[in-house]
Amino acid sequence: MTEIYEHPPSGQTLLPALHAFLPHSLPLTARLSHPTPTPHSHILATFPPSSPPPQCWAAAYLDRSHRPETESWIFVSGSAPGRCAGFAAAETVHEKAEGEKEKPRDVCPACAEALMELVAYMTGLPLPPVEARPARTGRYFPPEGREPLLIGSLAEGPARVLDGRGWVARDLPGLEEGYWKYIFQPQEGEGEAALPAGLRMESPVRRQDLKTVLERTEVPRGEGTMAGLESVGVYEGEQLVGWGFVGLDGSVTSLGVEEEWRRRGIAKAIVRWVVGRAAGLGGGYAHADVGMGNGGSNAVCVKAGGRRGGVVYWVRIEIPSPYE
Ligand SMILES: [Zn+2]
Repeated sequence: MTEIYEHPPSGQTLLPALHAFLPHSLPLTARLSHPTPTPHSHILATFPPSSPPPQCWAAAYLDRSHRPETESWIFVSGSAPGRCAGFAAAETVHEKAEGEKEKPRDVCPACAEALMELVAYMTGLPLPPVEARPARTGRYFPPEGREPLLIGSLAEGPARVLDGRGWVARDLPGLEEGYWKYIFQPQEGEGEAALPAGLRMESPVRRQDLKTVLERTEVPRGEGTMAGLESVGVYEGEQLVGWGFVGLDGSVTSLGVEEEWRRRGIAKAIVRWVVGRAAGLGGGYAHADVGMGNGGSNAVCVKAGGRRGGVVYWVRIEIPSPYE
């Protein structure tokens, strides 16, 4: 049985271990580096703050007080390629769903156990009250009357382990909707991409425009959360025509351009701006998680210098009780 340890909110006991695994540990590294801990956040690992990490370990950031926003980011050491046998499977659930040949792989048992103990511990903690739940709209809201734990940007290997255990709920977004992870490594002095004439960037997005931003996305997010993020708006006069945010996990978040302004390089310029800021959270790296079916955003990430780093999922965890 793996023991779970609380680490100090500064993240300082965990960040050195995570930095050694960049860019694979990027979402959790950036989340721990983001200066927004709440009284309900936990930093957890399968090794104590006083020790260096063992060969196989898992760690997480958890804050359930902003559900239905993403509640947890997890890293498992074996999801770095070559670290442990089999765990960093390159194939995806998505590919299997398209009928490609299934390649069963061994999963490193120690990493799988570390992950499962960590997730079981997190779901067993008391649920804090919700701060400012956004209005209930869209298909990405959790099911009424249930409180599954939403883990975001979870790598393929760990997602498959949890699914194999029967812990992944079938609700959206889930394993049916994979996201390409794009990794950016912006260089010093790279500069920002040019905007069409008559447009300018403004940071942050004006407070009165956040409602527009939230109306354009299906992902449930609170206005307070958005207001707390670094952001950039592209304006024509007083009119917001495009926007992007530095997510809590160092990702390009809520990227959007109004329909009539698309295909003019605005989204690329926004992505370049955001990754330039986000890289400060992720040890020089930034990332974007883009729905596999979102052709426009996938193309934008490539044009903005992103390279694909595997597939990730947002999964809702419900552990049938009793867990033993
Ligand atoms: Zn392992």
